Amino acid sequence: MNLSEIKALDKENFLGVFGERLPVCFVRGEGCTLYDQDGKAYTDLFAGIAVNALGYNHPAVTGALVAQAQSGILHTSNLYYVQPQAELAALLCENTFADRVFFGNSGAEANEGAMKLARKYFYAHGSKRYKIISADHSFHGRTLATVAATGHDYYQAPYRPLLPQGLSQVPYNDIDALKAAIDDETAAILLEPIQGEGGVTPADPKYLKAVRALCDENDMLLIFDEVQTGVHRTGSLYCYQQYGVVPDIMTSAKGLGCGVAIGAVLASDKVASAISIGDHGSTFGGNTLACAVALSAMRYMLAHDFSAMAKEKGAYLMGALKAIDSDKIVEVRGMGMLIGVQLADSCAASGIVRKLLERGFVAGTASGNVLRIAPPLIIEKEQMDAFTAALTDALK
Ligand SMILES: *Cc1c(COP(=O)(O)O)cnc(C)c1O
Repeated sequence: MNLSEIKALDKENFLGVFGERLPVCFVRGEGCTLYDQDGKAYTDLFAGIAVNALGYNHPAVTGALVAQAQSGILHTSNLYYVQPQAELAALLCENTFADRVFFGNSGAEANEGAMKLARKYFYAHGSKRYKIISADHSFHGRTLATVAATGHDYYQAPYRPLLPQGLSQVPYNDIDALKAAIDDETAAILLEPIQGEGGVTPADPKYLKAVRALCDENDMLLIFDEVQTGVHRTGSLYCYQQYGVVPDIMTSAKGLGCGVAIGAVLASDKVASAISIGDHGSTFGGNTLACAVALSAMRYMLAHDFSAMAKEKGAYLMGALKAIDSDKIVEVRGMGMLIGVQLADSCAASGIVRKLLERGFVAGTASGNVLRIAPPLIIEKEQMDAFTAALTDALK
């Protein structure tokens, strides 16, 4: 099938939520290079929305996937023990604040689990706290509960009245607004350490520390959504580790499976001890295939110090982007390999993404006219240099 045939099929049969997509269908990948049907090569600096941390056809991913498939078992259900699930949970506990982990299939599912855990914690303690406060311009997913937590009218408007009750938003990086919003029914504060979809906006370290203190003083739980910032992307396994602010519950997904669908909720003993048999579950969550691949990828990335690598490469790329001499760039911000280039209103980020694609480079956008760059963590210096040159040219 050629691209126009695929396009026609999609247009006629797929639900119209993605509209006119970018005019390409990738059919093969190797390293940080994607190939379309005509064999044209593209250097990838978006990693399928911060997912493919190990790029394409990496032995740690492909090898584990093939080996698991050849065992004949992709899924057995959570009625039985699942070895890679147990091992992956142990690896996550060893390397984070968490004492317990639960696996689902996506970021939204992980956030649903996090909100359920928070509510169950207070229910188990006979407390009336149930409200969850998140931030304006946040993004937490597309399910009904995560839409209610996502502080953006664009995502919420079609689905009002929002479900569940008790979810509200306050301005990000504004501790006074948060203080004014809490009451004796507030259970948890849900925040991204860096707002990804919202425009690659890092939290102010003082703000996160103040939120932690506020939670401690008022018996509320702190939930970090690290679906986008997690798995070495920002220069530490999880971003909270660089902020030095430890949550009670944290979610992970995107980069966790390096391309297979997996999400995780991580919790401290304090929270996890409130959970009883039957409180949560999933058919596919924690399945053998997803866990085998995620485990192999996680082991590889830890063994090769991907955090240091992301930090170093991110600093290099950020420096190169800041050095671009263009009046269309307003600001370059982010952490490690999650970078946002804020463009002037006169220069649409979506237009730049198209121009980059024509030049053989894949990048993304975020809200607020931001060009979002989240490369596979294995990207090489020459590829980043070529991208910077292409962006300089596309901005002309
Ligand atoms: C992408 C994202 C989600 C949603 O993840 P899905 O896998 O699409 O459900 C949630 N939170 C953040 C911060 C994200 O970036």
